[in-house]
Amino acid sequence: MEIEQLITICESELKEKFDALENTSAKNTEKVLDAFRKNRLQLRHFNNSTGYGYGDDGRDTLNAVYADVFGCESAIVSPNITCGTHAITLALYAVLRPFDTLLSITGNPYDTLMDTILGEGNGSLKDFKVNFEKFDLINGKIDFTSVEKRLKGATDVKMVYIQRSRGYDWRNSLSIDGIEEICKFVRGTGFKGCIFVDNCYGEFVNVKEPTAVGADLCAGSLIKNPGGGIVPTGGYLAGKKEYVDLVSNRLTSPSLGAEVGSYAYGYQLFYQGLFLAPHTVKEALKTNLLFGKCMDKLGYKTSPCTDEMPCDITRSIMFDSEKSLTDFIQSIQNASPVDNFVTLEAWDMPGYDHKVIMAAGCFVQGSSIELSADAPIKEPYICYMQGGLTYEHGKIALKSVLKNLMK
Ligand SMILES: *Cc1c(COP(=O)(O)O)cnc(C)c1O
Repeated sequence: MEIEQLITICESELKEKFDALENTSAKNTEKVLDAFRKNRLQLRHFNNSTGYGYGDDGRDTLNAVYADVFGCESAIVSPNITCGTHAITLALYAVLRPFDTLLSITGNPYDTLMDTILGEGNGSLKDFKVNFEKFDLINGKIDFTSVEKRLKGATDVKMVYIQRSRGYDWRNSLSIDGIEEICKFVRGTGFKGCIFVDNCYGEFVNVKEPTAVGADLCAGSLIKNPGGGIVPTGGYLAGKKEYVDLVSNRLTSPSLGAEVGSYAYGYQLFYQGLFLAPHTVKEALKTNLLFGKCMDKLGYKTSPCTDEMPCDITRSIMFDSEKSLTDFIQSIQNASPVDNFVTLEAWDMPGYDHKVIMAAGCFVQGSSIELSADAPIKEPYICYMQGGLTYEHGKIALKSVLKNLMK
């Protein structure tokens, strides 16, 4: 079959899903606009600030806008939060105290958090006597029986940790309805602490965010979904005021909280990125589905199943050898807008166990709301791809991938 023909067939099979994505994007755009309206966003909010940043209305309004979009009391959004790992780390250190237990109910947290939680002598939570326990998912589902048994009557567990996205695992991401059900269940055990969600890659995939369906706090990266592809750096946390206050105290100082923090560039791109985010996420999801459908038809194992709506913007594709894996990722690089001539090499990225190979020909370094693909070099050979600022670009990249595969 010709490549064009394959793509046309897949697109027509995906039509209903694409229509549903348009609908979600429209609703989320409305939600962002409502938040701008409510907080009376004005040009002066884009003015820069310097020094301490006392009374920086651009910063404070951005926080208020995020809180409204995330359906919660409070939020902190900052270029001083360097990435998603940093945002999640802030949540952990903000909430947990010596001899508390952190309980992850979605297995091990994302790779870059393991040294934060269990490192030795590096300032980890373990160094501060915070205990870590986890229950692995069973066939992609929460181990409700074990969770209930552990939480009933427990006073040491202060945070229940949920990772929405798949990370480097072959599992489905959690749906927003699933997260709602999990939060209800956890509360039902009598748990009084903080339900935290690692929300990376999940923002705007649905019309609700975890903090609108029972989570107390969530965190993510601005060079993923909520940055809309144009925010230069940063992270956010959103949730209950008591927790966001603790996070602010951790980010700056207990005596300063969210009252300080200047940004000489101003926050225009942060607002504009949020405005674009629902649309950008839709483009990424369409790209995700088209890649899935086509690779499916060519006999590759991919996840999530393309009969279902994806619950985040990531897709895993399994290859039978290191070479076919790296060829695929190289094709994505060659179809990128930036650094398209680069020959990729796997490297020891900070925070990861295995060598990682990564296609990231992005405008913003390492941005994974832009079309990107990465894989730890280990068996089984699984590529994790995500993003795509425009569906047009996604399709062009897919064509170049298919051309190479069909050779
Ligand atoms: C990307 C990601 C992180 C970490 O974010 P960085 O910005 O890369 O530090 C954490 N959890 C999940 C599920 C992620 O996808």
